[in-house]
Amino acid sequence: MKNLDKDRLKQHIRQLKHEKHAVILAHNYQLPEIQEIADFVGDSLELARLSANTDADMIVFCGVRFMAETAKILSPDKKVLLPKEDVGCPLADSVTVEDLLLLKQRHPAAVVVTYVNTSAEIKAMSDVCCTSANAVEVVRNVPARKVIFLPDRNLGDWVRKNLPDKEVIVWPGYCYVHEQFTVDEVHQAKSQHPDSVLLIHPECKPEVVQFADVVTSTSGMLRYVKTSDSQTFIIGTEEGLIYRLKKENPNKRFYSLGTPKVCFSMKKIRLMDVYNALQYEQYEIKLDKKVLTDARNAITAMLKYKG
Ligand code: SF4
Repeated sequence: MKNLDKDRLKQHIRQLKHEKHAVILAHNYQLPEIQEIADFVGDSLELARLSANTDADMIVFCGVRFMAETAKILSPDKKVLLPKEDVGCPLADSVTVEDLLLLKQRHPAAVVVTYVNTSAEIKAMSDVCCTSANAVEVVRNVPARKVIFLPDRNLGDWVRKNLPDKEVIVWPGYCYVHEQFTVDEVHQAKSQHPDSVLLIHPECKPEVVQFADVVTSTSGMLRYVKTSDSQTFIIGTEEGLIYRLKKENPNKRFYSLGTPKVCFSMKKIRLMDVYNALQYEQYEIKLDKKVLTDARNAITAMLKYKG
């Protein structure tokens, strides 16, 4: 199907979605055209949980690979499709099975706490998963003083600072998008918009995070803005979130922290890919049974330790 205008393409997508009893989920960083066609927009874990609770037979996950895998882990009987094959996350890909095996051998008494931004195989080798919103709480509550934390060094550093009684071994991975925010950008944004609240994602560098009024995940930012009395906000995360913030809070103003920071993997999926995913049922996420079960156990353990 070539050269269809966007409105007609959206109609075809809705039609196919209905015929196939499918649901479309989109991460907060997806392009506006994808957010508009989605049934739900959210962060990776919110979407994975939604996919487990929907009665749809098929899930089209517009995000990066580890997110679609997490949806499959939580809804093993559903068909989970990723509209583009090559949408990896460099942070998730920074740690391999061999790396983690070595770390575990070196620190046999440590509990492995893994941020959701990891592959299914890494989750399956972990004791417990966490999100950026509950990382500190999970590490605090796991029954061990020594913890291997992966894969994000900035989030790991934030955890370490908050829990000085724990020995936290941090994997040196990072998100290249959040890593781009600088202290200069913070000073400039604060002087240009002095009455704004500065919200920063914990995947940013510690020297940037220290200036935040609020350090929180994308879902935390959405919740904070909705209930805040402030009218203007400086947003220190991937640019895509601003579209949703503006849509849900039309009377409030939002400024990017410095130049807009873009995750290229997140912007690869277009309407035509969503259409093709539904039409040809591609690209299906398939996981080994043991990986699926062990990864699910690590995610379930998070509920136990997040207090
Ligand atoms: S924003 Fe960063 S962590 Fe999120 S998908 Fe892109 S590279 Fe990965």
